[in-house]
Amino acid sequence: MQEDLFSAANTQEDAVKIRAEELHTLLHRYGHAYYVLDAPLVPDSEYDRLFRELQDIEQQHPELKTADSPTHRVGGAPLPEFSQVQHGIPMLSLNNAFEPEEVQAFDQRIREGLERDENVEYSVDLKFDGLAMNLRYVDGILVQAATRGDGYTGEDVTENIRTIRCIPLKLHTDTPPAVLDVRGEVLMYKADFQKLNQRQRDLGAKEFANPRNAAAGSLRQLDPKIAAQRNLRFFAYGIGVLEGADKPEGHQALMSWFKSLGLPVCDEGALVSGAEGLLARYEAVAAKRDALPYEIDGIVYKVDRFAFQDQLGFVSRAPRFAIAHKFPAQEALTKVIAIDVQVGRTGAITPVARLEPVFVGGVTVTNATLHNEEEVQRKDVRIGDTVIVRRAGDVIPEVVGSVAERRPPDAQLFVMPQACPVCGSPISKPEGEAVARCSGGAIKCKAQRKGALNHFVSRKAMNVEGLGEQLIEQLVEKQIITTPADLYKLGLSSLVALDRMAEKSAGNILTALEQSKHTTFARFIYSLGIRHVGESTAKDLAQSFGNIDALMAATEEALLEVNDVGPVVAKSVREYFADTLNCEMVSQLIAAGIQWPVQAERSAADLPLAGLTFVLTGTLPTMGRDQAKELIESKGGKVSGSVSKKTHYLVAGEEAGSKLVKANELGVPVLDEAGLVQLCSRNPDEKN
Ligand code: NAD
Repeated sequence: MQEDLFSAANTQEDAVKIRAEELHTLLHRYGHAYYVLDAPLVPDSEYDRLFRELQDIEQQHPELKTADSPTHRVGGAPLPEFSQVQHGIPMLSLNNAFEPEEVQAFDQRIREGLERDENVEYSVDLKFDGLAMNLRYVDGILVQAATRGDGYTGEDVTENIRTIRCIPLKLHTDTPPAVLDVRGEVLMYKADFQKLNQRQRDLGAKEFANPRNAAAGSLRQLDPKIAAQRNLRFFAYGIGVLEGADKPEGHQALMSWFKSLGLPVCDEGALVSGAEGLLARYEAVAAKRDALPYEIDGIVYKVDRFAFQDQLGFVSRAPRFAIAHKFPAQEALTKVIAIDVQVGRTGAITPVARLEPVFVGGVTVTNATLHNEEEVQRKDVRIGDTVIVRRAGDVIPEVVGSVAERRPPDAQLFVMPQACPVCGSPISKPEGEAVARCSGGAIKCKAQRKGALNHFVSRKAMNVEGLGEQLIEQLVEKQIITTPADLYKLGLSSLVALDRMAEKSAGNILTALEQSKHTTFARFIYSLGIRHVGESTAKDLAQSFGNIDALMAATEEALLEVNDVGPVVAKSVREYFADTLNCEMVSQLIAAGIQWPVQAERSAADLPLAGLTFVLTGTLPTMGRDQAKELIESKGGKVSGSVSKKTHYLVAGEEAGSKLVKANELGVPVLDEAGLVQLCSRNPDEKN
């Protein structure tokens, strides 16, 4: 018995030891791929999970803490292609917190360390998902730039750094310090990352996994021309060696000094007090994370006063005076159980991965889109694979790629079905198109029928309140309706016969249908769901043709005359109205009483915003976004989604974020709601 217990204990210890060794191997390998090769094998959340597991083992079994443990290490060894730079002061990592309790514990440790009861002031920075850099200025001139490397020795990437336009080659001062090491992050904006990957795809070259790896990969190139093309950016957030000047009192003062020297400093930095201040700032930044033009993976809390920082010092690989509070991961690993196809309203067949449930981007995800057949092949996703799933903001979850080394031997390839899973009609993929389609059309294919109906009643189309997807599902399944025109034939008795439908709700739906009959011509066109005719094209068509008969009779040539209408849209509109069933349905809808104000010939005086492009951002005091958009468009203006040199005005409300920054950078005039209203009532001859 005694012996059994002894051997059980021994086996358990052995198991822990073996697991620790496994974790060493995995973390070293993943770390090398990430830090040295700039090509991660797994998402950060997976790396962090394994890292924490090892930390926990080491805490419980200190004898397993070896000198080469990944938990003691910072980054990766410098690449031999670059000259090496010894950092004057090491460039370390940061400890992480994920939960509010960990942040409270951090604040508690700080106050204990400083022997203070009162609140501590913290600087809160964004945690940029880029690559740490040390810029050395000697007598105000940039002489060297080095990566973090293993924290003590980095790579000399000076030539590449000189191509980053926002980094001053000379500090803006007549009295520069003899030596100044500026620490900060090199990063790539999301939009530049998308463009880069598009270029890589066009060239048939390998795509980058994320903006962080793209930034790192761009900098660690021997040819500075490559870095120059990549539009990299830099934000300063710390200091290393300083000689010949007094160090400011704290972090905020340091940032102000940096700004005055012409160094780029992010405007989102804040000074807060105590743990409560930290957590409030976390919530505020989390709310605008997706709107920022660059990726952040959390925020960094730093004790503001340098004297306090010095007092607290460092532990192993990270400072005691700072911590990174991470946001929920936007990428995670899970398994593909099956790949099904979904049929959209235009018959588009989309492969969808059915997944083992995984918590990512703050929700549990069970399905993720694979877009189309080519994407499945390009990403090499097979049934049974372990895949990276991404969910950022409100965007639908997608499969980023598969993890090759975790592929089981029986993983199965996806085969595009020959027939539509809903109606059995053949699936075809026209030459040159990425998307396969069900050839059944809305008449034969229930999935397309439901899609068309859901689109018809949606908010931006006919806006029929209370008529949701589940009701449409029932109405189609019970063969009560087939086309949108049938909606207006619905009576109380057919609605109350549906599951969970009380008389009152049925009455409300009939009222909503009645109300929807008073619409605009543009909404009506949009609601028909003609392929390639989105909201904005529908507006252009309505404006140009003025009435439905003219639109139905329009030739391709006439359609091509319309603003922003190209051959693809013209052909699609023509094909739609060439189908007699569609024309019949339109006539039925009009006969049911759908109407819109007839557009009178509009004089220039009615269109004071003609020729002007606006961008909306933030929350306006009284108008909703859609309302402001409608106002601008009704006065002849256009609303665009992003600020560029072509934008005439930015209309900004509260909590305006990156668009406001961009507008200021480009010198685009900014209006508030009152300014917009005033502009709408101006005489169009008073240009700008
Ligand atoms: P870290 O990235 O979590 O934190 C330290 C770094 O944060 C600093 O070096 C600096 O570059 C950066 N930083 C950004 N903004 C900052 C600011 N305002 N102030 C101070 N520093 C700021 O730590 P790390 O040790 O560089 O890397 C660990 C991270 O890398 C982990 O979160 C892990 O997920 C990821 N990683 C992933 C893989 C993978 O396989 N996917 C492998 C290794 C590491």
